[in-house]
Amino acid sequence: MSKRMTEQELLECFDKAIISGDIFVTYQPKINHITGRMIGAEALMRWKDAEHGMQYPSDFIPVLEKNDLISRADLAVFELVCKMLHGCLDRAITPVPVSVNMSRYDIIKTDYVDKIEAIRKKYDIPVKYLHVEMTETSSIGGMELVSNTLKKLHEYSYIVEMDDFGSGYSSLNILKDLSFDVIKLDMRFLSGEIGGRGGTIISAIVQMAKWLDTPIIAEGVETMEQADYMKSIGCKYIQGYLYSKPVTEEEFINKMQQIEHEPVTPALDLISAMDAGKFWDPKSMETLIFNNFVGGAAIFTYQNGNCEILRVNKKYMRELVMNVDEQELINGDPFYGMDEENRIIFINTLERAIASKEEEVCDTWRVVCSKTCGEDKICIRSYIRMIGKTDNQYLFYSMVQNITAEKIHYNELYESERRFRFASEHANVYAWEVDLATMKMHPCYRCMRDLKLPPVVENYPEPVIENGIFPPEYADMYRQWHRDLIQGKVDNLEAVIPLTVGHVPFHVRYTLERDENGNPFKAYGSATLVVDEEK
Ligand code: C2E
Ligand code: CA
Ligand code: CA
Repeated sequence: MSKRMTEQELLECFDKAIISGDIFVTYQPKINHITGRMIGAEALMRWKDAEHGMQYPSDFIPVLEKNDLISRADLAVFELVCKMLHGCLDRAITPVPVSVNMSRYDIIKTDYVDKIEAIRKKYDIPVKYLHVEMTETSSIGGMELVSNTLKKLHEYSYIVEMDDFGSGYSSLNILKDLSFDVIKLDMRFLSGEIGGRGGTIISAIVQMAKWLDTPIIAEGVETMEQADYMKSIGCKYIQGYLYSKPVTEEEFINKMQQIEHEPVTPALDLISAMDAGKFWDPKSMETLIFNNFVGGAAIFTYQNGNCEILRVNKKYMRELVMNVDEQELINGDPFYGMDEENRIIFINTLERAIASKEEEVCDTWRVVCSKTCGEDKICIRSYIRMIGKTDNQYLFYSMVQNITAEKIHYNELYESERRFRFASEHANVYAWEVDLATMKMHPCYRCMRDLKLPPVVENYPEPVIENGIFPPEYADMYRQWHRDLIQGKVDNLEAVIPLTVGHVPFHVRYTLERDENGNPFKAYGSATLVVDEEK
């Protein structure tokens, strides 16, 4: 049975513990949850006292830190790891990269990095087998110390992992400003919350990491459910009891020989032309453009027919006439309001964009429901471009434009043209429509052909009175008709009027169309030649 050592006992035994090997290293593998292969391991310090038994870091590390002994302990760990790696290389066992923890007190010691580098050289270990883990809150001396330490480690080509992301202080900007190579997300800080807020936070962090092109490792993973969840949101690297507790050096060397290895790869292979990371910086030009200039825009992922929105700007919301909070839409459904047919159009466009690597365009209709206006149908034109991909997930940038008005207008034109054509197909029928707000008249093509009218006649009906199509004696009556139509006094009008200089009798009819409020909107006119039987 172990018994926790007091501060006094720890301090008394420290020197001896370092020399005798009471302070030693255990190793915990890091695994790719998709392939089951090992991508690395973390070195974790242990202290086994002959009298008191096993001591754990949470108890003795704070004591060592407080008494300025932690650097010596950490260097001892680093040396033990180098020895282990050296032994492997000697025996032709290919090791995995082992990460060693760096205390925030090590960072203050400006020669610490040089010291580990000297040890590495002494054991002749290729730097690729040694990673360093540190937390972004490591520094008591501020961000600059962390940043300088990172720089120095990078100069020596060490891969540096940001430990304990999600522990509370982590922020996006730190992630971006400090160029950590790997992010370690600790599940224990978010335990039991997979479906709720914790899940949303984890998912957002994983997405951010992807955007920064930084691999992410979930640690403290104890259950298959957690591991599968992490995989589902795009984080495949796992460290935790699920795969293995920290094991002795001997066990670890066995594991390295039994389990296949693979290197860590970034979460998302971003297309190089675009520095997507900048999108997360609120002050970057990209964000400025994203928010202010490009119009409605969204960034979303696509995987096996499913889409997930990562980010939208304010104008996107406006284009989609949405009343929901931007945040609600992230993790929301990009197929919002689309029926099956439109969904297929959209997905086909994504597939085209994947194949062509060019911008592809589609128009899709959606039924939107807003608190103020109720249900409405809108047409969205999407300009879609693929900006990144992994094995089976794609990242898209999409600009959207609400073209509902344009579409409706087009449909109306199409409708009226159809009407005109129908009217004209019946011999001797002329048709036109008058916009009562502007008094613009649109003639049918027979009118244009036979009466030499332009496609739009302004200030109707004056031009056709002036050119004699409507003879002077009927001019006032015809003007009065239009005044009545504008005021909505009548819904139908008709009379036989002799038209053109030839005074050919035509049956002239008008039908008024009102808008949804009952106000006069358009007048549809027709003139049918009066044939003998009508007389
Ligand atoms: P850490 O760097 O976050 O290390 C991960 C800790 O999580 C380890 O605890 C590990 O045993 C534990 N862990 C791993 N998988 C699971 C899991 O599935 N569930 C749970 N509940 N825990 C899991 P450990 O070894 O007790 O170390 C605690 C902390 O002490 C470390 O946290 C690290 O901050 C510090 N530490 C450990 N070794 C060293 C070292 O050599 N140098 C320095 N400076 N700090 C060290
Ligand atoms: Ca660690
Ligand atoms: Ca950690």
